[in-house]
Amino acid sequence: MTDPSLWQNCLSRIRREFTALAVSEREWIERNLQDIQARQRQLHTFFQRANGARHCAACGGACCEKGRYHLTLVNLLGYLATDEEPPPPDFTATCPFLAPSGCRLDVPRRPFNCITFNCEAVEEALDEADRADFYRLEAQLRLAYEVFDRRYAGSSLRGLLIRAERLGDRPFLARP
Ligand code: SF4
Repeated sequence: MTDPSLWQNCLSRIRREFTALAVSEREWIERNLQDIQARQRQLHTFFQRANGARHCAACGGACCEKGRYHLTLVNLLGYLATDEEPPPPDFTATCPFLAPSGCRLDVPRRPFNCITFNCEAVEEALDEADRADFYRLEAQLRLAYEVFDRRYAGSSLRGLLIRAERLGDRPFLARP
């Protein structure tokens, strides 16, 4: 299956599975997504303090060239749980969510690998105390993603499309 067909297949299956969940399970997802999204907003403040947007504009987003498979089930659920559509991916771009103006995924629903990556320029712009706080928060965020990985067959920090290929016809939201 090509990446665009795999994406369409994942999106419709996960949407169907999410809609069919018990209310208590949806509430669990919403609660845990809120926790992840709050931590991502917090992590982004370090990027802002380091004047990240200026560094990205100067570089043109070289780090996003490796983002093709970064989006995870958690990030997609962030859209489905609020009845929103994720931005349509463009698989001809280096990352399907990269636009000339930057990332089309909002900060709370941006992939773990993206939100926790600091290029050299951003890293150097943070002082030692900020760097320590950043990596403490990164570790907490990783644990929050891993809670989803343990709960759902289709959740993995390795990315949704990579996980989907291994999963085959098994539901993404199957519990082990
Ligand atoms: S998801 Fe966004 S931040 Fe991550 S690699 Fe793609 S464009 Fe860059």
